[in-house]
Parts: sequence; structure tokens; C-alpha cells
Amino acid sequence: MKEPKGFIGLTRFGPVAAEIEEHLRCELARRFGLPIRRLGEELAPVGWNPERQQYLGEAMLAELHHAAPPDAVRVLALTEVDLYAPEMDFIFGQAEVGGRTAIVSLHRLHPEASGEAPNRILFLRRALVECVHELGHTFGLVHCPFASCVMHFSEGLEETDRKGPGFCHEHARQLRAALAQV
Ligand SMILES: [Zn+2]
Ligand SMILES: [Zn+2]
Repeated sequence: MKEPKGFIGLTRFGPVAAEIEEHLRCELARRFGLPIRRLGEELAPVGWNPERQQYLGEAMLAELHHAAPPDAVRVLALTEVDLYAPEMDFIFGQAEVGGRTAIVSLHRLHPEASGEAPNRILFLRRALVECVHELGHTFGLVHCPFASCVMHFSEGLEETDRKGPGFCHEHARQLRAALAQV
């Protein structure tokens, strides 16, 4: 069997439940064919905007860039805080397209956050979908017109719940090609 040439680092801004990380670690390793290594240190959230009561996604990505171990091919950070981008009410995550870093906010993915009944399976599915989406961007994938493809843009939970963690045919092909370069 071919030895994997690298790993994806998994870290967090502020505390994130270890069992969520463990679930995502296994699922992401399977989907990207790379080991996911949980990085020890917890990063302090940056980019707080007191007027919006949210954190700027871009600031988190810049911070993650500095904190990323040099030998990680990609680094994904999770956070429970709410993220925004200029011109948008909120974002579920952000990534450098074709870069190394990605961040996903779990804040709005908890069903309780939008007045739904607690639902662990639904929450974990949403988290996985958003993580696959943002990591997909780091492998150069852009937004997809197909609503069922994980690379379709999520303006809200409706889109996230409609799409699954799977790629459309074309994006699966692009991901395989990108992974072959790792
Ligand atoms: Zn996107
Ligand atoms: Zn697609």
C-alpha cells in the first residue's frame, strides 16, 4: 500500500468537544484519503467585532496560517464562535482556495441555535458537510451549480441540509487530481 505523503492538521479556535473532533477526524480521513492529525494547542479566537458580536473569518484564517505546522499539507480549524465576512450576515466557514487553511464555525450548525430540537446526528452531518466543503476549496474546488454537491454554496442551513458530504462527478474528479499532487 502506498504511504500517505502528508497529513491534514485539525485544530480549534477556543474549545470544541473532543468527540466532535474525533467523529470528523475519522470521516475526513476516509473522504480525503489523508491522515488527520489532531494538533494539541487550542488557538485563541481573533477578529472580534464588538458591533457585530461576531468574529471576522479572514482574521482567523490569517492567524491559522501562522499557527499551521510546516509539515501539514492542509490545516482545518473548528470553532464554536460565530463568523462573518464583510457584506454577509454570517458564514459557516472560509478557506483559501488552493491554499492550506480552512475554518468552520459550528455555531449555527447546532439545531438548537435555530430553535429546532437537539439532534446530534443532524449536527454532525452539517459539521461534516461544511468541513468537506471548506477543505474542498483548499484543494482548488470552486462553488458548484448542483444543489446536491457538497461544493454548492450554503447561504443558510437549508442548502447545507439539502446537499450531502459527497462531491458531484466533476468535483470528485478534480479532487482526485488534486490529491494525486499532494
Ligand atoms: Zn464555499
Ligand atoms: Zn460539484
